[in-house]
Amino acid sequence: MPNQQVPLLERVFGGIKGLFKSAESAPVCEVCKQNEVYLECDGCKTPLCLKCVKYSFYSTGCGNVHPLYFCPKCNDDKDINP
Ligand SMILES: [Zn+2]
Ligand SMILES: [Zn+2]
Repeated sequence: MPNQQVPLLERVFGGIKGLFKSAESAPVCEVCKQNEVYLECDGCKTPLCLKCVKYSFYSTGCGNVHPLYFCPKCNDDKDINP
């Protein structure tokens, strides 16, 4: 019964396509569009890779310092990164 082979092949190719699709849609840095996303900008939630992220430090005034991660745009924005 050769007709039964078609749905089987479709299922196999569908599975392979599904794998490729998930690889293609892996999150990529919004700034360079090249590297894998490492974290989000604390200002605009833009996905960033390790190379594009800008570190900033926010002091609470009582000795504690919180690290902040910004995209280059938010890093230069005085409203977001004072
Ligand atoms: Zn990047
Ligand atoms: Zn941002």
